[in-house]
Amino acid sequence: MSDLIVNNKVEAQTLEWIATQQQIMQQDLWTLAEINSGSYNVDGVNKVADTLAQWSKKLDCELELIDMPPQDVVDDLGQLNQKPLGRALRLFKRPQAPTQVFLCAHMDTVFPIDHPFQKITRLEDDVINGPGVADLKGGIVVMFKALEAFERSPLQDQLGWEILFNPDEEIGSPSSSKLFPEIAKRHHLGLIYEPSFADGNLAGARKGSGNFAVVTRGKAAHAGREHHLGRNAIRAMADFTCALDNLNGQQQGVTINPGFVQGGGAVNIVPDTCTMRFNIRIEHNGQQAWCEDQIAKIVANINTIDGINIELHGGFGRQPKVLSPANQELCKLVQSCGKSLGLSLEFLPTGGCCDGNNLAAAGLPNIDTLGVQGGKIHSADEYMHLSSLTTRSQLSALILLRLAQSKDLSWLQRKGMEHQSC
Ligand SMILES: [Zn+2]
Repeated sequence: MSDLIVNNKVEAQTLEWIATQQQIMQQDLWTLAEINSGSYNVDGVNKVADTLAQWSKKLDCELELIDMPPQDVVDDLGQLNQKPLGRALRLFKRPQAPTQVFLCAHMDTVFPIDHPFQKITRLEDDVINGPGVADLKGGIVVMFKALEAFERSPLQDQLGWEILFNPDEEIGSPSSSKLFPEIAKRHHLGLIYEPSFADGNLAGARKGSGNFAVVTRGKAAHAGREHHLGRNAIRAMADFTCALDNLNGQQQGVTINPGFVQGGGAVNIVPDTCTMRFNIRIEHNGQQAWCEDQIAKIVANINTIDGINIELHGGFGRQPKVLSPANQELCKLVQSCGKSLGLSLEFLPTGGCCDGNNLAAAGLPNIDTLGVQGGKIHSADEYMHLSSLTTRSQLSALILLRLAQSKDLSWLQRKGMEHQSC
């Protein structure tokens, strides 16, 4: 530990203890990552929750399993359906302590139940390839170990914590994000365990994101005998898509991506239905209203076409994460903890989104990439560095210890915290 710059014996002992836990963390990661838990694999996601509920015994905390409402989805044929989701798991301890920290990690992965990517393989001594090893099961292991280490310290009474393991982050947290506004009121700050960037740096500002589905309906007719009686839903969708795509480049930082289209069938029938999905990224909050306004105009225009009806579904699920002054202070605290561990951590802006967006929108300053170091996430090439299990657990433990030692958290400028008078 001689290369570490720590403030006191408690910090040094905590970090040393974590360094003895590498093998145990690796076993835990293998256990979690080899549970198939794509967002719509309800049994798989619930199995992860059950495993974490078992692990929570080490933390001697309170536990609550929360049923999530199903997700409303428009299927490829333009029909509105509901898809069931797994349960969320909430753990909490010492809700009356002077400092309150919220921790969050998702249990789902992007890999569907029948995806061939199911097992971990070792690529190098320190590098493994596996589903969710970086995004985000490695982060769950890091979070647990950091809390376990913190709970062994004599500072534990100074800080209470609450964890939400959510089942639906990879599909935009459609149900679990509704829990964040209430959670945000109870805490000073948030720590989220998404993987760091591949080079080890952390995410700062994030773009906001919206997912939409649009359905055009016309009238089927024989393409040869009665073409004039048909109303072509694909043509209407083509017009809509062109007008939508033309919005690109009109506002700095706004990108619109039509990403999926399906419609029609036999080519001797005028198609009566077409479905299209698109994603929008925005940099500033005001841009959401601009996008909604522009889309509403295009929709109104398409609706004036004789015999064509257009429906728009979806919306902005993630607000842009703009770093507030309090969030910038939190970044500095994390950087100084990193420095003590010999890590030089930069905060870089990204177009990607996560629950850090929703927490920031709820007013909670947060750091959202405290998980393991890895890369190529959302692909079968996903990898992570095993040694980052130790370093990133040490980073989180040090953050918790320094928060617990801090007498003054007014720099977090949290207004409206329910327990502030405690
Ligand atoms: Zn993730």
